[in-house]
Amino acid sequence: MFDITVIGGGIVGLATALQIQKTNPARRILLIEKENELAQHQTGNNSGVIHSGLYYKPGSLKATNCIRGYHLLLEFCQQNGIPYDLCGKIVVATEEKELPLLQNLFERGKQNGLAGFKKLSKEQLKEHEPHVAGLEGFFVPQTGIVDYTKVALKYGELLARNGGTIKLGERVTDIRQSDHLEVITSKSNYQSRLVINCAGLYSDKIARLTVKNLNVKIIPFRGEYYKLKKEKEYLVKNLIYPVPDPNFPFLGVHFTRMAKGGVEAGPNAVLAFQREGYKKTDINLSELTESLLWPGFQKVAAKYWKTGFGEMYRSFSKAAFAKALQKLIPEIKEDDLTEGGAGVRAQACSRDGGLVDDFLILEEKYVVNVCNAPSPAATSSLAIGETVAKLALKKL
Ligand SMILES: Cc1cc2nc3c(=O)[nH]c(=O)nc-3n(C[C@H](O)[C@H](O)[C@H](O)COP(=O)(O)OP(=O)(O)OC[C@H]3O[C@@H](n4cnc5c(N)ncnc54)[C@H](O)[C@@H]3O)c2cc1C
Repeated sequence: MFDITVIGGGIVGLATALQIQKTNPARRILLIEKENELAQHQTGNNSGVIHSGLYYKPGSLKATNCIRGYHLLLEFCQQNGIPYDLCGKIVVATEEKELPLLQNLFERGKQNGLAGFKKLSKEQLKEHEPHVAGLEGFFVPQTGIVDYTKVALKYGELLARNGGTIKLGERVTDIRQSDHLEVITSKSNYQSRLVINCAGLYSDKIARLTVKNLNVKIIPFRGEYYKLKKEKEYLVKNLIYPVPDPNFPFLGVHFTRMAKGGVEAGPNAVLAFQREGYKKTDINLSELTESLLWPGFQKVAAKYWKTGFGEMYRSFSKAAFAKALQKLIPEIKEDDLTEGGAGVRAQACSRDGGLVDDFLILEEKYVVNVCNAPSPAATSSLAIGETVAKLALKKL
């Protein structure tokens, strides 16, 4: 009998298990991951940015967990010898109509308590990034880069070293409830007093095993990247972001210098036809139909179909992708880009319409479901872990 079973070996599940172990070393913890290795999905396919907490609604779970998670992450990296670089980033307005949005974002950063970030004129932007073209912008010194796969694997290593059990290559298929819980996997059955669901792209499916009328569905949005050719990497010193569309939870295609080397451009945001569909050709008809038939998604699609088609077009046309990037760096040419990888975001969509903006944690009697943990959940992982651990331990 385990005290707590965590489903999902991504950065959120691992951080949660680690935080429980830290405060309650005697608890018997099991973590189950369906892949043969940890961190194979969102955690292993993201931009690797340590977010500062700039964008999020003050007081929201995203804002509070990102800011606390940021400090916990840096401390963790220092203690465990994981390299990171607080290189800072610039946010750039390239059109007049973006200037009020830039100002709103600047104010939000101040509300979220970011110190030392400053407005930049057209000329000052070039001091940070000589090849950028913009009307105005600002610099966020706190932002950094790290390899989240390394971070997650270290969480896993510490969890196992201190007595946690990690089962790889086992898919959870059911949860049965009696006086305790029985977690059924593709290989075995485990008895547990409590379950924490951190299954990312399948977190709604796991939640539905114990929640009758779940009002959210995970809609998968693929984010595709291009890489800058080695000889063009000089065009980007650090991180260059556009002003995001406030209607969407995504940040717009940007340039990121990666902790593991190289410069990436992206990610866009296109509906994935399969939850773990990393390629345009990946289609799972039943998963696609589920997304399309979800009333909340239909409302989002009806409202934002133009943006959606634009993203789709950019996904198929490298020239269109390059054109979007040229707004930030006019010198970039289609030829300077080579195809990069892709990640798929697990974005919760509510039944009555709307992409869920904040992190969403749903509590049942003996189950805690993390049902929306998109960006900046990698930055925030140790803080989300603390939050979920507290909720879970109260139930034991
Ligand atoms: C393109 C992209 C860019 C991003 N950029 C950033 C960034 O720069 N900074 C940042 O902070 N965040 C970023 N994010 C967000 C961040 O990567 C995620 O929020 C974070 O990785 C979520 O972690 P997770 O553990 O919840 O999910 P995941 O890493 O997806 O882990 C969930 C795990 O659950 C497992 N699982 C699912 N179903 C089952 C089952 N039935 N049984 C057993 N196991 C199961 C999966 O195999 C998976 O390993 C980005 C995300 C994407 C996709």
